[in-house]
Amino acid sequence: MTTTSAEMSQAGMPFVPGVLEVGPDGKGHLVGAHCPGCGASYFPARSVCSRCLRGDLERVPLGSSGTLYTYTVIHQSLPQFETPYILGYVDLDDNVRVAGQLVDVEADAVELGMRLTLQVEPLASQTLASQPLQSGEVGEGKQVLWFRFRPEAAASGPPVPPTGKPPTGKEQP
Ligand SMILES: [Zn+2]
Repeated sequence: MTTTSAEMSQAGMPFVPGVLEVGPDGKGHLVGAHCPGCGASYFPARSVCSRCLRGDLERVPLGSSGTLYTYTVIHQSLPQFETPYILGYVDLDDNVRVAGQLVDVEADAVELGMRLTLQVEPLASQTLASQPLQSGEVGEGKQVLWFRFRPEAAASGPPVPPTGKPPTGKEQP
């Protein structure tokens, strides 16, 4: 991340630096890595390909659509997270598997292989039972951004504050 502290003060801040970006249109995406040698994709981004050991991987924006590979229902978690919630492993159409929370669907309605849409959004206060995750690092006026998955039909993206960087090249259809 090359975002300056001045930019960060007016923008959303990823829950982990560098894992996602939000464009001026308010639409966010995850940032992965693509190997130009063997075609492997990774999330989170890495610098060396574990398949062919090339060291010149490209950072690429990942698409938001995928299918549910597997999931579990979490009943005990960190005190900051309300339970129960559904944690899914989702195979994005970019051939990357990503773990994330599933929302807007009941556990007994979840089906393996269902189509899901990833949305970058502010970390909503109602998901935090008490204090912020990193209270020492999150200043006033900053929104912490993360991502969740919704069933494709239920997805409707509320705009989120930009991370201050333009999209990085390859756009997904
Ligand atoms: Zn490779």
